Amino acid sequence: APGLYLVATPIGNLEDITLRALRILGSADRIACEDTRQTQKLLNHFGISTPTVSYHLHNEGPRAEELLLQLKQGSRIAVVSDAGTPGIADPGHELVTAAIAAGITVYPIPGANAAISALISSGLSTEQFTFHGFLPAKEGQRRTALEQLPRDHATHIFYEAPHRILDTLADIESIFGSTQSVVIGRELTKLHEEFLRGTVSDLRTQLSVRASVRGEIVLLFSPSQNESAPPSRSIAAEVAALMQSESL
Ligand code: SAM
Repeated sequence: APGLYLVATPIGNLEDITLRALRILGSADRIACEDTRQTQKLLNHFGISTPTVSYHLHNEGPRAEELLLQLKQGSRIAVVSDAGTPGIADPGHELVTAAIAAGITVYPIPGANAAISALISSGLSTEQFTFHGFLPAKEGQRRTALEQLPRDHATHIFYEAPHRILDTLADIESIFGSTQSVVIGRELTKLHEEFLRGTVSDLRTQLSVRASVRGEIVLLFSPSQNESAPPSRSIAAEVAALMQSESL
């Protein structure tokens, strides 16, 4: 059927492509790519010869109009990013809103996503979670973003660059304390996949003894999971309760 197909691709392990993704990529009129060279490698691997068109951040605007025109004429356009789910810390959203406004059907073709993969194996609560994408690169803005996180039971999920992870952990330690539990998921679905779990100070030590930190990283923590967790009642509530029992 004509429409816009948002196709998730692997985040490392090529076996994570779905049967449906292969069928849609193989039968679409065009594949709109974040980076055509990157996607071409995937298509070559699976023997798919559908024409590709670039759709990276810099041309998202004008290209969106061109693709929209083709969609209105009944084309089937598949959208992919370099890895994982399009639109999640990746381009794609502008085309989706434009397609919806033009009355074009938008089909999700689900598959790999680094945030959800890290979350389900982290051991942290999956009941409530917030995905924040990348933290700001500048220290001041990053600290402000961390300070403003709600301190409830939700798990906060971030994407982080390997060359910034030690600085970010230092910020977390100074804001939430050295006993804050943190999980790092690195190189998920790849040969050197690993999960590091522990207090923020443990993880800083573990990573800083390495010659360098490489690869792709998801960082997760819940401010409610701190080894020196404050009492569930605030000090004020505690005092009020004591005074009440004294007066009885
Ligand atoms: N759209 C992608 C998705 O669905 O997960 C995310 C794209 S974003 C530009 C790239 C970031 O995602 C990386 O810098 C890293 O933080 C995270 N990421 C992607 N693949 C990963 C993997 N295999 N292991 C750990 N993190 C990954």
